[in-house]
Amino acid sequence: MRKILFHSKMLPEFLRPLAALFFPDCCAGCGRELNLNGQSVCLHCIASLPETNFAMHENNPVEKLFAGRLKVEAAFSQYYFSRSSVMQSVIHQLKYRGNSGAGIEMGKLMGHSIKHSPRFCNIDYIIPLPLFPEKELARGYNQAEVLSRGIEEITEIPVLKNVVIRNKATSTQTRKNRMERWQNVNEVFSVTDPLILQGKKLLLTDDVITTGATLEACGHAVRAAGGSQIYVASLAFAMQ
Ligand SMILES: [Zn+2]
Repeated sequence: MRKILFHSKMLPEFLRPLAALFFPDCCAGCGRELNLNGQSVCLHCIASLPETNFAMHENNPVEKLFAGRLKVEAAFSQYYFSRSSVMQSVIHQLKYRGNSGAGIEMGKLMGHSIKHSPRFCNIDYIIPLPLFPEKELARGYNQAEVLSRGIEEITEIPVLKNVVIRNKATSTQTRKNRMERWQNVNEVFSVTDPLILQGKKLLLTDDVITTGATLEACGHAVRAAGGSQIYVASLAFAMQ
C-alpha cells in the first residue's frame, strides 16, 4: 500500500486555508512536509531526479525508439523512470492522487529543457496525448495536459486541447504488427480540426514513454491530418 500524501491543491480553493491549519503540504516525491509555499516537490527530491539530458542529443534512446515507426524531428524524456523511485512517486501522485501541482512543476522543468535546446525550435503547438474522455472525467484532468501547461508557462508555446481526441480507452497496439497498427490508428485517435494542424510543428507530450506505441499512433493521426513536423516530449522514460 502506498502512503496517501496530502497536498492542499487537491482541495477546492476555499477549503485550503482551513486545511493548512491541520494538514501541512507534503512533497510528492518523499512525503516530507514542505517548507516553501506553493511547492509540490521539495528541492531535495528535484535535485535527486535522474536527468537524461536527451533534449540536447540527437539519436538519443527516445529517438531510437521511434526510428522506423514514426518520423520525429526530435524527441526527449526529462528523467529516467525506475521502480520505487522519487520519479515513480511523483508520477503516482500526479496520476492517481490528484496532485496536479506536482505535474505543473515537472512540466516547467521540461519547459526549461525545451527552451534551452536548439533542437526544439519554433514549435507551434503542444498536443497532450489525449485520454479517453471518461477516464479524464474520473481523474479530474489529463496528466499530459497538466505537464503541458507547465511547459507552456516556460516556453509560451500554446497547448491545443480537444483537437486530437481519443476514441478508445485502451489500445493493444504493442501486440499488433505494423500493418494492423496502421489500420488501428484511425480507430484510436481522431482529429477534430485538421485545418489548425496544417503545416504546423507539433510537440506531442505524455507522462511516461515505455513502448512509445500510443504516441506513435497519435503521431500518425496528427500527421495524416496535415501536421507536418512532429516532436515528442515526456516526463520520464522507462527503458525496456
Ligand atoms: Zn521530497
